[in-house]
Amino acid sequence: MGDAMAPGSPVRTPFASESQGSRSAQQQVARIAELRRVHQAFAWFRAHSRELEDAQIDVTAIAAPPWGESARSEWLAARFTELALSDVHRDEIGNVFGIRPGTDPNAPYIALSAHIDTVFPEGTPIEVRRDAGKLYGPGISDNSAGIVALLAIAGALRAAGLTNTAPILLIGNVGEEGEGDLRGVRHIYQQPQWSATIASLIVLDGAGTDTIIAEGLGSRRYEVTVRGAGGHSWSDFGAANPIVALARMIDRFTRTPVPAVPKTTHNIGIIRGGTSVNSIPESATMRVDTRSASVEELDRLERALHEAIDHVIPEMTSRKKQELLTAEVRVIGNRPAADLPLESQLLKAIRAVDAQLNNAARTQRASTDANIPLSLGREAIAIGAGGSGGGAHTIHEWYDPAGRDLGLKRILLLTLALAGVSGE
Ligand SMILES: [Zn+2]
Repeated sequence: MGDAMAPGSPVRTPFASESQGSRSAQQQVARIAELRRVHQAFAWFRAHSRELEDAQIDVTAIAAPPWGESARSEWLAARFTELALSDVHRDEIGNVFGIRPGTDPNAPYIALSAHIDTVFPEGTPIEVRRDAGKLYGPGISDNSAGIVALLAIAGALRAAGLTNTAPILLIGNVGEEGEGDLRGVRHIYQQPQWSATIASLIVLDGAGTDTIIAEGLGSRRYEVTVRGAGGHSWSDFGAANPIVALARMIDRFTRTPVPAVPKTTHNIGIIRGGTSVNSIPESATMRVDTRSASVEELDRLERALHEAIDHVIPEMTSRKKQELLTAEVRVIGNRPAADLPLESQLLKAIRAVDAQLNNAARTQRASTDANIPLSLGREAIAIGAGGSGGGAHTIHEWYDPAGRDLGLKRILLLTLALAGVSGE
């Protein structure tokens, strides 16, 4: 559909063109909220709360470790088909797509996405249960709540017979967590088919209704491996030791001052190396995480890491060949930092929806799938799927569906405000 759009070019939405007229975002949201079919959609959320919980239990029980989401993407594609979405398919990396067509064939998509991967490695025991109205299981909230919200929006739009003007694209994407490094949404925005046709992306991630993530937190992650000749701790004493080299690098690097504003952090999260207490190791590895809202600060930390390595390696490498050390730095994560402009239609629309629903929400900075479109100058936010949750990224994770319908109403109104409603 059309040529690939240059990064930064806005894709115009019905909402954008309407708001340039006299109608304010607030008036438009109020008008949509009064529609009989919208009330029917709201009622659908309440009437189907039990089925939504059942679907949440089902999807949580399907393991979806990073790089191992295929069983879950198959499950989601089957649900999309049951909901009569069009063009249901999976792409080559496992992202799942389904479309609710709009009445304007030329309008760009309003996209809703939920990541389908979890942080839990393959083999993690998955026990999902319902107890006293709450749901328990690893990933039950992050992000089974988001996945269920996709199904709820598609189900309610269909049951209420709502006609959207712009087409609505539903996406279950892979690779959000950890070393997945946003690979699912990154891949989507690398395809002209999508990057040129998605006007706004609404990322549904976890529970809650009290935040609007409109600012991307950037992060870069590195793996540093130091290698040497190794040897016996007694007979080869004096050979350069990769673990000692790493320790010196860590000491030097972590002394790098970081500003409080913009908040900038570094962490050494994993260190590995060596084989036995009486061997000089042949290699040692560390994983480094750096985060900031500022690309300049991330650049500065990257230079500091290289400086620490470049300082330690020659210091520990003498001319004797067996003492030669080498270091290799591999980038294992790169999440760009960028913000949604305050004057964007998407931000105006979510604020108008929150005012309509008397929902108090504040904007926050975080690292989510929205980072990718934001870094390309495109409109995106991440919001919760309603209800409440806790224990994210632990096997004790829980989700409380009380209040889920506020989250679903919020998502539905936002979607319709952006896509437009036809025939009312
Ligand atoms: Zn998540």
